Amino acid sequence: MFFFIEDFQNSVNINRRKRARRFTLRVCQVTGNISLTIPLRSSISAAKKFLKDNQNWVNEQLNQVIPKAYMSIGTRVPVEGIEREICLKKHHQEGHSLEERKLLLDCTESEVGVMTKEFLFGHAVDVLVPIIKQNAEHVIKKIKAVRFKDTKSRWGSCSSEGSLMINWRLIMAPPSVYRYVVVHEVSHLEYMNHGAEFWKLVKTLHPSYLEDRAWLRNHGRKLKSFVFETFNYS
Ligand SMILES: [Zn+2]
Repeated sequence: MFFFIEDFQNSVNINRRKRARRFTLRVCQVTGNISLTIPLRSSISAAKKFLKDNQNWVNEQLNQVIPKAYMSIGTRVPVEGIEREICLKKHHQEGHSLEERKLLLDCTESEVGVMTKEFLFGHAVDVLVPIIKQNAEHVIKKIKAVRFKDTKSRWGSCSSEGSLMINWRLIMAPPSVYRYVVVHEVSHLEYMNHGAEFWKLVKTLHPSYLEDRAWLRNHGRKLKSFVFETFNYS
């Protein structure tokens, strides 16, 4: 059941659970949905009181929720750390192109989402592959394969066989940040752990790694908030 509780911006979904022993309050970081699980015999007024008592915590959680950003003409999307406004190309020009403050897409209005994704993916491959190759020269082990994916939880990975995975969304981050992730994964070819030797190599190849790691911690979620599927208004 859903409740609108005074002073709460969002409705709260209250679930009575047979096996619940206590009140459990959750705020979804993606949707901002608030849910409260309560024991079967607990009263709604007790639930409301619990919510009121925890209102500050709920508000703090809601402040951290990053709204999803759907693509349309005029939307700003970061490319290599710089916000670019999505515009459509004139008919006589072919292919997407990146300008200082604009991303010009060669498509129709309804294709803006998928085409932005197509551009970012392609741009990530163009920019990151040379950086991967360049850094790989500093390690003995050879790279077996490079894959560009969009994984929910990771920015990159490296298998013991030498397969690298890089999240293509990183192309939206500032150059120093995506370079750090490449260096991090390439360094795993040498050391399959996060030991002192590993970080020493990362630091040698990319001295600003601490700041870039902090940037990802602070802003990484924003890069994941962009939705490239066309938004359905109906
Ligand atoms: Zn690692």
